[in-house]
Amino acid sequence: PRDSQVPKRVAFIQCVGSRNVASGCRGYGPDAETGSSAGAMDPKAYCSRVCCMITAKQAFMVKEKYPDAEVYVYYIDMRTAGKGFEEFYQRGRHEGIVFLRGKPGEIEEKDDGCLRIVSEDLDSGCILDLSFDMVVLAQGLTPPDGLVEFAQKMNLSRSEDGFLMEGHPKLRPAETAIDGIYLAGCVQFPKDIPDSVAQAGAAAAAAAVMCSKESIEIDPLGPVIDETLCIGCKLCEMLCPYGAIKVELTDKGPKAKSIEVACKGCGVCGASCSTKAITMKHYTDSQLTAQAKAILEVV
Ligand code: SF4
Ligand code: SF4
Repeated sequence: PRDSQVPKRVAFIQCVGSRNVASGCRGYGPDAETGSSAGAMDPKAYCSRVCCMITAKQAFMVKEKYPDAEVYVYYIDMRTAGKGFEEFYQRGRHEGIVFLRGKPGEIEEKDDGCLRIVSEDLDSGCILDLSFDMVVLAQGLTPPDGLVEFAQKMNLSRSEDGFLMEGHPKLRPAETAIDGIYLAGCVQFPKDIPDSVAQAGAAAAAAAVMCSKESIEIDPLGPVIDETLCIGCKLCEMLCPYGAIKVELTDKGPKAKSIEVACKGCGVCGASCSTKAITMKHYTDSQLTAQAKAILEVV
C-alpha cells in the first residue's frame, strides 16, 4: 500500500476487464489498428487462463509470509484445469484464504486510505462491505504492443482477440498460414508456462522437419503474370493472404511478381486483377471453358 506498511487485509479481484461480453466487445485489448495498449482495460470477451492460478499462488504467498494477514479473493468462478491446480487451490482455502464468488463493481478509497469494496457474495446471497489495505487486480492478458505492425509486416493473420492466428486450431496449433513461421506462447493466446513449453516443442519440431528437407515442395497452382497487362495497382499484393505476390519497380514501371515458394495457389490474386493480367496455372479461361463444355456434353 502507499503507506509502505505490511498490509493486514489484502483483496484480489479476478477477471478485471475479462470475460465481459455484455458490451458486445469481442476482445481487442490494445487498439485494433495501432496495437497500442492504451485501451488495455477495455473489456475482453476471452478468459486469460492464467490469472486464477497466479492469484491463488500470490494469495498463498501473502498468507505464507504474513500468516496474520486476511486474504480475500473475489472471483466469478475459479478455473483450475491443470495438473495439481485444483489441489493447490483447495490448499489455499485450508490455509485460510477466503474465496468469495461475486465480482465487485467499484472500489472506493476512504479518507484513511483504506479501500472499500461492496459486493454480493453469490453463495450466501449476503451483501459484503469490506475494507482493505491493498487490492490486487487480475487484469486479463492482451496482445503485446507492436503485434499489429509485426503481423502486417510478416503477413500473419490475427484472431478477433488480436493474437496471432494459428494454421488450424487442432491440426496445426503451432504453425501459421505462412510456411516457416511458427507460434509459441502468449503471442497466439494467453497460456501458462507448461502449455507454452509444449507449444514451443511442437513449433521446434515443425521447424526441424522443414529444415531437414533437401527440397521444398511448392504448390503446382499459382499465378502467371502478364507484365504487359499489369498496371502495378497492388490490389493483388494487398489481397494475397500469404504475402506471395509483390509489386516491384521494373524498367517498364511497377509490375507484380509472384513469390512461388510462398504461394498456396488460392487464386485470390487471379480473381481480383481488374486488367486480367493474372491467370492461374492449370485454371486458364480456355481450360475452364473446355471443362465446362465437357461436363455439359456428358449431362
Ligand atoms: S492486380 Fe493485376 S494489375 Fe494490379 S498489380 Fe496485381 S497483377 Fe498488376
Ligand atoms: S494464388 Fe493466392 S497465394 Fe498465390 S499469389 Fe495469388 S493470392 Fe497469393
